[in-house]
Amino acid sequence: MNRTHTALHVLKGAVQKTLGAEWTAGVFVEGNHGRLTVQFDRKPTDAEMNEIETLANNKIKEDTPVEIIEMERKGADEKFGNIIYDLFPLPSHITQLRICNIPDWNINCCNKEHCKTTGEIGQIRLDKPRFRENKKLLELPFDVI
Ligand SMILES: [Zn+2]
Repeated sequence: MNRTHTALHVLKGAVQKTLGAEWTAGVFVEGNHGRLTVQFDRKPTDAEMNEIETLANNKIKEDTPVEIIEMERKGADEKFGNIIYDLFPLPSHITQLRICNIPDWNINCCNKEHCKTTGEIGQIRLDKPRFRENKKLLELPFDVI
């Protein structure tokens, strides 16, 4: 489960770099299967999907440390800005944040458990994406193998 969840962070970084998609609209994890949903305006090409998968797996091969930062929300907002948040706002009563940081790749507040390094994930295999035109949401299902 931790591997699949950590894969979401690695995948998100690859999606940001390839497509420029900024906002996560939802995540799903069940065993080795996961799904990242981002706000986007079209279905990616096969070449873009290949690039996302390649970038994500390269980041895994780098075996980059996954940092966990715990800090007050106010300070985090000032230091990192809204890039640490997802599309749907965090409830205002949450004042202390745990932030998962894969340096120069993905930073997101997240209270789930993570691998210590990206290498622990193993490998990400992307399945066929689904684009929901009416909601402008792109679903990226994957397996961790
Ligand atoms: Zn996380």
